[in-house]
Amino acid sequence: MSTPDAPLDFAYESRPARVVFRPGAAVSATPDAVARLGLRRLLVVCGSRGEATARAVADALGDSCAGLHAGARMHVPVEVADRAVEVVRAAGADGCVAVGGGSAIGLGKAIALRTGLPLIAVPSTYSGSEMTPVWGLTEDGAKRTGRDPVVQPRSVVYDPELTLSLPVPLSVTSGVNALAHAAEALYAPDVSPLVSLMAEEGVRAMAGALPAVAAAPDDLGARGRALYGAWLCGSCLGATTMGLHHKLCHVLGGTFGLPHAQTHTVVLPYALAYNAPAAPRAIAALERALGTDDVPRFLRDLAGRLGAPRSLAELGLTEADLAVAAVQVAGQPPPNPREVTEDGVFGLLKAALQGATP
Ligand code: NAD
Repeated sequence: MSTPDAPLDFAYESRPARVVFRPGAAVSATPDAVARLGLRRLLVVCGSRGEATARAVADALGDSCAGLHAGARMHVPVEVADRAVEVVRAAGADGCVAVGGGSAIGLGKAIALRTGLPLIAVPSTYSGSEMTPVWGLTEDGAKRTGRDPVVQPRSVVYDPELTLSLPVPLSVTSGVNALAHAAEALYAPDVSPLVSLMAEEGVRAMAGALPAVAAAPDDLGARGRALYGAWLCGSCLGATTMGLHHKLCHVLGGTFGLPHAQTHTVVLPYALAYNAPAAPRAIAALERALGTDDVPRFLRDLAGRLGAPRSLAELGLTEADLAVAAVQVAGQPPPNPREVTEDGVFGLLKAALQGATP
């Protein structure tokens, strides 16, 4: 990255969290993470598919484990959070360890929000939720999100071995989801020099690793580079306010039920093409990180080449949905480098619906 030439003017807040990154760390380093926080009775939470891995972590905790709750579900339905809080209280837990993807970590955050108990995260996807103070809860079909420092994991244990089992299609879309955090951080109103460095390096690492992960999903080196990228990209998400791309994906997921990571993957090139004229420095950073002079096209080709969906139509969106989505997004515009208009969003979504050249 080149040193910024514009006058420096920024705020940057770093929150205390310890990060350990090592193959095998889920089992070898989580007990130490627990001990450093002075915790003695941890509830381990996970989703049903991640139970075997979570069990290994729970076993490693030995007497410090107060139980295992495999109740996590996508988007943290409020009744799932209620049930988990009951389990935490019944177990007399003094903290939680969330093992899994964004859904398991989301459940751990919901518990932290309700109880104030500290959270340790052991991520198994590239969602980046472990590096943010953002929580989400779904009630009556509507997802509420908020920021609260109490939900930010106090300790994060990155173990690339956990990601070896992540299927290639999910690895690719989860990886592009991570790229989207970094890309939007680069033009966020609250970006700062350290975040820009993390974003550029995160994009470089993730985009470089994904083809290798897709070619050889059991290549621990490639998995490690992707997870390293996810850490940096997640840190950018936690430190900044996201723009048009994340707002679009939130509406497409919330109102039309489109799947999280796939939607991010399809939309990102179009959102960046829309914002490019108003965000030259961010685009220059992405060009350096990706080694291209056409960022939207590069990202679309990368994801397509690795087997990801290329259009919103493939994900189930219809032409009739476009106007509804455009009104919603333009009606509550996020902070964004380029003005968010109904016509602009409609055009962007139309191109993404068809999978046209961005
Ligand atoms: P997820 O946790 O639902 O995982 C997706 C699927 O992959 C699940 O079926 C899960 O069982 C499976 N899986 C996870 N890890 C695996 C592994 N290593 N091997 C095999 N299968 C595995 O989804 P996600 O994409 O990790 O996260 C998406 C969720 O996280 C969404 O609800 C999103 O809103 C939320 N999120 C929140 C933040 C935040 O800052 N709060 C950030 C990013 C995402």
